[in-house]
Amino acid sequence: MFDTISYLDQPQAVKDRLDRMKAREVILEVAGLTKKFRTGKSDVVALDNISFKTHRREFLCIVGPSGCGKSTLVRILAGLELASGGQVLLDGHPVKGPGRERGMVFQGYTLFPWLTVRGNVMFGLLMNNVARAEAKKQADEWLSLIGLEKFADAYPHQLSGGMKQRVAIIRALVNRPRILLMDEPFSALDAQTRARMQSYLLEIWKKVDITVVFITHDLDEAIFLADRILVLSAHPGRMQELIEVPIVRPRKAEHFSAAEFAATKARLEALIHPPSQHGDDEEAYPSVPLLTDVRDEVE
Ligand code: ADP
Ligand code: MG
Repeated sequence: MFDTISYLDQPQAVKDRLDRMKAREVILEVAGLTKKFRTGKSDVVALDNISFKTHRREFLCIVGPSGCGKSTLVRILAGLELASGGQVLLDGHPVKGPGRERGMVFQGYTLFPWLTVRGNVMFGLLMNNVARAEAKKQADEWLSLIGLEKFADAYPHQLSGGMKQRVAIIRALVNRPRILLMDEPFSALDAQTRARMQSYLLEIWKKVDITVVFITHDLDEAIFLADRILVLSAHPGRMQELIEVPIVRPRKAEHFSAAEFAATKARLEALIHPPSQHGDDEEAYPSVPLLTDVRDEVE
């Protein structure tokens, strides 16, 4: 098993919180997970020997460069895709397909456009044979929890991006899953809405007994949200490090300028964009020739 790396001095409050988290039972265990895709004659190894454990009420973020297998991993955890090797255990039982104990929120907006907001929230409950009146009652309770009860009869296209993702989150939570799987859920939002949604998600996480596995390629977002961050590398998707975030909770905007934040980010940057890769990037962008006769140069 891969050890967590604590490369920074953690404040005692962080140590204590992480110790409490690690003393809780393991909900999700991923052991030696491998995923190969057959493309033409050759195999693409999307995930190679991924192993980690997530504890109850942990907030785990997974980061890594584009194409490193983040979405593939979360789809396997959700039971939407089969692994080529290894296994995923949820509460000790192998994951063999989708199940109500796992809620999902995807990138972009995934609400059903033909259903009202209430209809979207009720959908999962009805699928699980909850009677219509009870489903409506529960949906309305969740909608009032996130302050959108006035929009119960509206359709998704009438909502802002942030509102849509709030509805997507409660739609995933109504079935009381053990674990919430989120694949870049805020990447389509503008910066301000995104920041508000991050804080709001932490509020929900605090109030609901839920474990979160959150995929993002935004390092600030990962540090702001996570207890621990799993860093993947690309081609093949391998585990690089599992980092404990040395920042106290509750997380606040001022933590973005804390020394621990900058140090964590520097470590993640070094893992995700090693110096040689920067060289490649520069080669990919040719220098722009002078396209103006005006000689008063700008820097
Ligand atoms: P990420 O979400 O980190 O950007 P993905 O999980 O989407 O990465 O993809 C990981 C790798 O697997 C990529 O190289 C991608 O091209 C490949 N891949 C993903 N899905 C398929 C598929 N259905 N068939 C073939 N290759 C795939
Ligand atoms: Mg992806």
